[in-house]
Order: sequence, then structure tokens, then C-alpha cells
Amino acid sequence: MVDAAKPAEIIRRRGFMLILSSPSGAGKSTLTKHLLDDEALDLSLSISVTTRARRSSEVDGKHYYFKTRQEFERLRATNDLLEWAEVHGNFYGTPRGPVEEALAAGREMIFDIDYQGTQQVLQRARKDAVTIFILPPSMKELKARLERRAEDAADVIDRRLEAARAQEIERWRLYDYVIVNRDVQEALSQVRSILVAERLRRSRSEEAIDGFVKKLLADA
Ligand code: 5GP
Repeated sequence: MVDAAKPAEIIRRRGFMLILSSPSGAGKSTLTKHLLDDEALDLSLSISVTTRARRSSEVDGKHYYFKTRQEFERLRATNDLLEWAEVHGNFYGTPRGPVEEALAAGREMIFDIDYQGTQQVLQRARKDAVTIFILPPSMKELKARLERRAEDAADVIDRRLEAARAQEIERWRLYDYVIVNRDVQEALSQVRSILVAERLRRSRSEEAIDGFVKKLLADA
């Protein structure tokens, strides 16, 4: 049986950026981990650079590339970042090179970036981006998840909750799809459906379909 989640191999296509945004604590990291662990989906993570301090559970080069402020500014100045933003007092940005390579090779990358970064990507490469906004089922649950993570100090959690309330949740209109993350399995299956459909979008493989159809018709 052919796995419906696997990219259609018959027709070559350009890959896309699967952008996932949410206020911190909405469960996006867990979702992202599940998506990356599923080999059939053939996804890779766009690893951002950040000036934020590394959390004890994080590995440099796997979750982020941790940089000094000066290093970050250099990358920005040399145009090596596809987008960048200041979030909760730290700088974050997406290295450009790996993204261009993946898209040209017909592969999808997951982006865990905020609404400011999403806005920049949409301005620069609308056709190459599919955007999903993840909402928590309630503010109570959002707070509980942040506290359960227990990796940030209380004032950091408060700052993040305040940002979620004041700036982030209101940005849902920027996104192609909105998912309420009540249950990881349910949310995962919704993201999978989006992937399957978006991989079949005509505009990603117009030339290849044209070639395929010409051969099909010549084959009478
Ligand atoms: P955290 O510090 O919890 O890892 O991430 C904080 C926020 O920064 C999250 O909303 C995350 O999506 C966002 N973020 C992480 N990397 C990037 C990036 O490269 N660009 C932008 N614009 N936001 C990012």
C-alpha cells in the first residue's frame, strides 16, 4: 500500500516551508517533535539561531544554534537570515541556506517561528509557505503547560503569558490554517491532512504535471 502521507514521487515538485506558530505553551514543540520523528512524513526542522540562553534540555545545533548578540548581528548584516525577530527580549532568526536547498530538492521544512517572522516570510516567499497557527484550548491550560515545563523562571512564564494574551493570539488571521490543540493525536492528524493536501497543490509542480500530461496523452 502506498503511504498517503509520503510525497507523491511520480510528479516532481518544489517543497514548501511549513510554518507553525503559537503562543509558548500551546504544545507546538511536542507536535513538532512527533512530526519530525515520523519518517514517512520526510520532514526536517529549520534550526534557528538565537541569542536566548540555552535551556538545560536543549542541544546546540539540534534545537537552536545559540549565538552571541554580536554573532547574530553579523549574520543579519550579511543577509544570511531569511527572517528575524525580537521575541520576549531575545533575537531569533532563520538561516537562509538550508531552506533554499530543501525547497529546490522538493522537501518540506518545519519552521517554529513567531508571527513577526511569519509576516516576513509571507512578504518574501508567499507561494513557498504554508502557515498553521496553534491555539491552546484555554488560557488555564496554557499556563499549566508553561508551569509543567518548569524550565523557565516564574517571571519569564508571566512575561510569556502576558505576550500570549496581548500580542500573539490576536495574530491568527495571518495564517492559512488554525488548529486548537486539545489533544496531540488529533492535532497531529490535522497537520498530516494539511501536508498531504498542500503537497498536491498544482502550483508546486506545474511544469512537471505539464510534462506528465503530455506523455499521458501521447501514450494513446
Ligand atoms: P522559545 O524561546 O520558547 O524557544 O521561542 C520563543 C518564540 O520564538 C516562539 O514563539 C518561537 O516560535 C519563536 N522563534 C523561534 N525561532 C524563531 C526564528 O527563527 N524566527 C522567529 N521570528 N521566531 C522564532
